[in-house]
Amino acid sequence: MASGAHVSSWARTSATRLTLFLAMIQSPRMSQYRLIYRALLSLYGEPVWQPRLGPVDELISTILSQNTSDANRDLAFGRLKLRFETWDAVRAAPPTEVVEAIRPAGLANRKAPRIQNILQMLWDEHGAITLEPIASLPLEEARAWLLALPGVGPKTAAIVLLFAFGRPAFPVDTHVHRLSQRLGLIPLTMSAEKAHRELERIVPAEHYYPFHLNLICHGRQVCRARTPACQKCDLHAYCQHSQGLSGPESG
Ligand code: SF4
Repeated sequence: MASGAHVSSWARTSATRLTLFLAMIQSPRMSQYRLIYRALLSLYGEPVWQPRLGPVDELISTILSQNTSDANRDLAFGRLKLRFETWDAVRAAPPTEVVEAIRPAGLANRKAPRIQNILQMLWDEHGAITLEPIASLPLEEARAWLLALPGVGPKTAAIVLLFAFGRPAFPVDTHVHRLSQRLGLIPLTMSAEKAHRELERIVPAEHYYPFHLNLICHGRQVCRARTPACQKCDLHAYCQHSQGLSGPESG
């Protein structure tokens, strides 16, 4: 017993030391994050969460958005909704008709079967085309369930969880990835896939929605991919890219 108590006390002490060590490593980045978050709030305000699409619509729209612009995604989504009255009609349609409807989104021959497969899987699992059952699952189960769908990666899963269900998942799209690297919140070598977990550690869950949207605003208006306007950027003082620093170590 005495030995067990000793081991358990040692384990607690080690865990505390590890927590303190991690806090010491992370605190500069968290302090930097807080400055960036506040600067973005003063530039763009604080977006308040509201569902923009239903969960299935959000999922299909996000699949259409892969490797294309928002304008092309919206065009393809509108054409799909116009051509078919329900998601069940899309599920049962001849594949060539779905391909034709979503052609403006690009990669239509790849996206159409993915969409139809997903709709079929929802139908098989729930007897209806719905994502509502995942609303009551624990977050990681809901995420894993979405990730098991064809063509659904960490970004698409996080978008559905955050935007359709208001769950604490942080989507990393191309703007969020680029800005997080340039600002030094994640290493320059970190992939967008890995950045989801890393940013979920740094950003408080209640900030996921406003921080995601405000980073996108800044990425479109100021910190553009090829021509970042560093001279007039309000984040200049906190930005590792503009100061010629390399950002945190990877790994
Ligand atoms: S200072 Fe430049 S690189 Fe940094 S966030 Fe602003 S525009 Fe982007």
